[in-house]
Amino acid sequence: MKKAILKGKCSYCLSTFSQNMIETHLLSCKSRQDFFKEATTSSSKTTGNKRKKVDEVTYYLLEITSAEYPEYWLYIDLSEDLTLHNLDSFLRDTWLECCGHLSSFIVMEETYESQIDRLISNDSKSMRIKLKELLLEKDMNIGYMYDYGSSTLLNIKVVSSHRVITTKNRSKLIKISARNDDIDYKCFSCKKEKATEICTICICEKAGGRKQSSFCKSCSSEHECGEEMTSPIVNSPRSGICGYTG
Ligand SMILES: [Zn+2]
Ligand SMILES: [Zn+2]
Ligand SMILES: [Zn+2]
Ligand SMILES: [Zn+2]
Repeated sequence: MKKAILKGKCSYCLSTFSQNMIETHLLSCKSRQDFFKEATTSSSKTTGNKRKKVDEVTYYLLEITSAEYPEYWLYIDLSEDLTLHNLDSFLRDTWLECCGHLSSFIVMEETYESQIDRLISNDSKSMRIKLKELLLEKDMNIGYMYDYGSSTLLNIKVVSSHRVITTKNRSKLIKISARNDDIDYKCFSCKKEKATEICTICICEKAGGRKQSSFCKSCSSEHECGEEMTSPIVNSPRSGICGYTG
């Protein structure tokens, strides 16, 4: 079987690229550069007494990949003034939140947990630490876990950082720069129709992972685990886990 080429879209210029080209693209995307440059040059437009405050902010470009299902990936641009807690919330909103599970980051062998009053380890720290205090560098890897039971693990890599002089208050900037397109799974039963449902039991118990757990609407109604155990397929590595429906 031919391996499908997985694609995704740059949210600045809206062009589509294959997964192995998207990083190169983002680093040279004109629309992305303009987005940050505009922040730099807008100070020249202000006249008279209305002088705006000028800030210098470092932005990071992070690559975020599902450890188990690397076909799910995100690139995000974010400000150094945000905390790990902000990043955690963003990941939950975009990809993960089902029922408020605990989560943690591992940065330079230190563990940062979402709920400091329920720390798993005494050595862990709070997520309320700004990214700039973590001294992130290019190619640094950060581990992330959502839910200590039915875990979703993410690998986070610092792709680049750049310092911008800005008059816009973008200290809270966090945005998706690129994201994988919807992934088409064929129904594992009929091998014909596009799968729209995922079995929440099969995904946890069968080695075949997503491919063997995905079914079309009509096959899911006859699926041995029961139709009520299926969830709609969504564009997230958490799809089908703990009833996550986006
Ligand atoms: Zn682009
Ligand atoms: Zn849950
Ligand atoms: Zn089917
Ligand atoms: Zn099943």
